[in-house]
Amino acid sequence: MMSGRILIAAAVPAERILLRATLASHAYDVLLASSAKAVLDHTRGNPPDVILLSETLDGGCGIDLCRTLRANPDTSRLPLILRVHAGERGGRLRALAAGADAVMDADTAPSIVAARIRSLMRRVASGAELDEVVRTPGLADQIDLVPHTGRVALIIPAGTTDMRWQIGLQTRVRGPVRVYSDGTALTELWLGDPPDAVVVVENPAVPEMALRLVSELRCRSATMRSAILLVQSEPGWDRAVMALDVGVDDLIETGFDPEEVALRVRHALARKAYEDRCRAALRDGARLAVTDPLTGLANRRFAMDRLRQIAERSRTGAGAFAVLALDLDRFKSINDTYGHPAGDAVLATVARRMEGALRQGDLLARMGGEEFMAVIFGCELDQATGAADRLREAVSGTPVPLPDGTEITVTISIGVAISGQSATERPDPVALIAQADRALYAAKADGRNQVTVSSHAA
Ligand code: GH3
Ligand code: MG
Ligand code: MG
Repeated sequence: MMSGRILIAAAVPAERILLRATLASHAYDVLLASSAKAVLDHTRGNPPDVILLSETLDGGCGIDLCRTLRANPDTSRLPLILRVHAGERGGRLRALAAGADAVMDADTAPSIVAARIRSLMRRVASGAELDEVVRTPGLADQIDLVPHTGRVALIIPAGTTDMRWQIGLQTRVRGPVRVYSDGTALTELWLGDPPDAVVVVENPAVPEMALRLVSELRCRSATMRSAILLVQSEPGWDRAVMALDVGVDDLIETGFDPEEVALRVRHALARKAYEDRCRAALRDGARLAVTDPLTGLANRRFAMDRLRQIAERSRTGAGAFAVLALDLDRFKSINDTYGHPAGDAVLATVARRMEGALRQGDLLARMGGEEFMAVIFGCELDQATGAADRLREAVSGTPVPLPDGTEITVTISIGVAISGQSATERPDPVALIAQADRALYAAKADGRNQVTVSSHAA
């Protein structure tokens, strides 16, 4: 995506020409359509980044078309601005209910239209990596699109005693609405749980104060991802443009109408919930890539990366460390006797016990099957063998209960390799693991359930 493709759809040619002129200096690729059918054709294949849709289309209604696009999974998330007949509250409400991202009167100042498009383009750009989640099998399933409840913060001019705004909003959105005064909101907002949506009502005495508030909210961690809606107390296109450019998600130019504000808040909450779910799925995906699902321990891939880092750092003087290769004794016979699920339960229990026996900061990973690796920091030889013995004891000291209630004794053999103490020579992770493995082999050959130290110094 280079400059952004904007589709302008309006039945009246003069309207299309005016809007195209509005966007002329923005270097967008502008597409034009006059009918609902032409818009639908444009959304197939390579859809535009933003659709600017007028209520009046050839042979159709923009609001109906918006509803149609929202109902189709392929187009349900297309950024869409609906321009409705000026001054008609009913049209605005219907357009909002149809799911438009932005709804504005047809006589809205061209600079505000352009700022709205910039705002949606910014959202498209920052949401691109989130959209990737939706296309990733497995991650997409975790995103449900049920409308969510959310915490709403309502920031009103200091000294307002009228409760109608809060009540009007509270009765129409799911989730708590908390009210703050614009003089103290910045200090009080951080005390509770962060809001999902913030509605800022301009103070007619100091209308530019809302802009300062919005820019502060955008850069603080608690609210940087919150949806922010600005209600103008009186029209002012310059403040509206600035508000959109500092990161307001939605703008209400016609004062506080609880029904309209609530519709916009609900739309903003649904979008925020969707983005939160996408981010959570990304985080989970990142976590799953480095953990072993059965035991919750680090997996081989993560362990090898960490070991390489540790080796690199120890060269720069962070001190010696020990690599332990651990392998359950006669594990196959546990599977053979009690079944594979029982074997799995043993692996999970053993992993938990070993984790508990290590210090925080040490590394424990499941390398595969019934083989584990531990890396222990800052230790001399006897400390390393001490730690290894603690691990061995943690596994074998108490019988392991199986799912069927049987208790069995499980033992483990451990091979230990110590990195060189030399501050100049870099320990080789692969060589260390090979030494620990040879020591482990010796422990097995010696009768199992014991710790053997590599005779090599790495
Ligand atoms: P040794 O004392 O010499 O280590 O004997 P062993 O039986 O532990 O070793 P061997 O390598 O012969 O067998 C390992 C067994 O571990 C074989 C395999 O079926 C089992 N295994 C590997 N991964 C899993 C797993 O995820 N779950 C279960 N239940 N078993 C596993
Ligand atoms: Mg084994
Ligand atoms: Mg093995």
